[in-house]
Amino acid sequence: MTKEPKHFEAAVIHEGYDSKEMLGSLTTPLFQTSTYTFDSAQQGERRFAGEEEGYVYSRIGNPTVTVLEERISALENGERGLAFGSGMAAVSAVLIALTKADDHIVCSSGLYGCTFGLLSMLQEKYNIAHDFSAMESKEEIRSLIKPETSLIYVETPINPTMKLIDLQLVAEVAKEYGILVVVDNTFSTPYLQRPLELGCDVVVHSATKYIGGHGDVVAGLVVGKKDFLDSVAMTTQKDIGGIMSPFDAWLLIRGLKTLAIRLDRHCDNAEKVFEKLRKHPKVANAYYPGDMRHPDYPIKEKQMKRGGGLISFEIEGTKADAQEMLNKLSFLKLAVSLGDAETLIQHPATMTHAVVPEESRKKMGITNQLIRLSVGLEAWEDIWADLEQALDQV
Ligand code: PLP
Repeated sequence: MTKEPKHFEAAVIHEGYDSKEMLGSLTTPLFQTSTYTFDSAQQGERRFAGEEEGYVYSRIGNPTVTVLEERISALENGERGLAFGSGMAAVSAVLIALTKADDHIVCSSGLYGCTFGLLSMLQEKYNIAHDFSAMESKEEIRSLIKPETSLIYVETPINPTMKLIDLQLVAEVAKEYGILVVVDNTFSTPYLQRPLELGCDVVVHSATKYIGGHGDVVAGLVVGKKDFLDSVAMTTQKDIGGIMSPFDAWLLIRGLKTLAIRLDRHCDNAEKVFEKLRKHPKVANAYYPGDMRHPDYPIKEKQMKRGGGLISFEIEGTKADAQEMLNKLSFLKLAVSLGDAETLIQHPATMTHAVVPEESRKKMGITNQLIRLSVGLEAWEDIWADLEQALDQV
């Protein structure tokens, strides 16, 4: 781009791509290639030595993937972006890059199940311990930081309980100790929340969700400071190799163009469905960060543009009642993942968070009656009608 677009809605469409450099092609070309030819042996030598810019091999870089990396970096207001084959490839590349044996991690008291699994593996294999924190005050976070603490890892909103963490507060504590804050921004996307602008250091995404938005790709993204991401690119990305395919990058570039309008619609629908849901007699509790009664609403006001597209709620009854309700749905899709056009609904205790031991699930607030709803882009009246008829039958 010769001129930077001013608004997010323009940046999602234009950042990182100049059609003039690509024979006028309006959409980003798909460079479906594994390798690149050199004009001479000397040019190959210069490229491998880093003395000349240019592509050498698609695990190390690909022009379609580069457009996506530059776009997400601009949207998160970072210095560099990197693309991975899944959200977990992104999370693991960052965590492995930032830790060594015997280190310690402070993390939010709720985490995506596989991130929890990864932390358990790091503990078992490399003695990298972790502590969970509700992160409600600076004192509470400080009390958990040890000399060997290398980072703070935060999810907010927390999956699937919808609790929020004050990112600015966490970043201020981390600065006191000179450690980095990594934020999983999957639920909000940069349209609703930009952790780097609040003082955090690294953002990770499961791009499988709202960034792709169409349920057709599994992918991950990381954004942060250039120095750190340069080191990730040359180590845990290049050598572990969990890279993104050019076609997946192409799909994500397409998905990103509608991120702002999709998210506004997801939020509109979630607000309407939540109001109905919370009043239904079979619903014991309903959680939505955009709800003024939510205990963390002041944090939402501080750091999120809107409440997002996810709601969780507890059925009045037992695990069997929760499963019964899910079985009674007619067109809403019983599936994990989130952020798609289709409304998706799932049972975290037996699905996304089944790997988390029951005791830890309880501490995280994931009961057997908890259901997570990713509100889709359908008419909200149809979404509610299906939920209501299923709830009525429990
Ligand atoms: N982070 C969060 C909050 C998630 O919900 C998920 C997946 O559901 C992941 C990370 C992992 O992403 P992926 O499934 O793309 O590997």
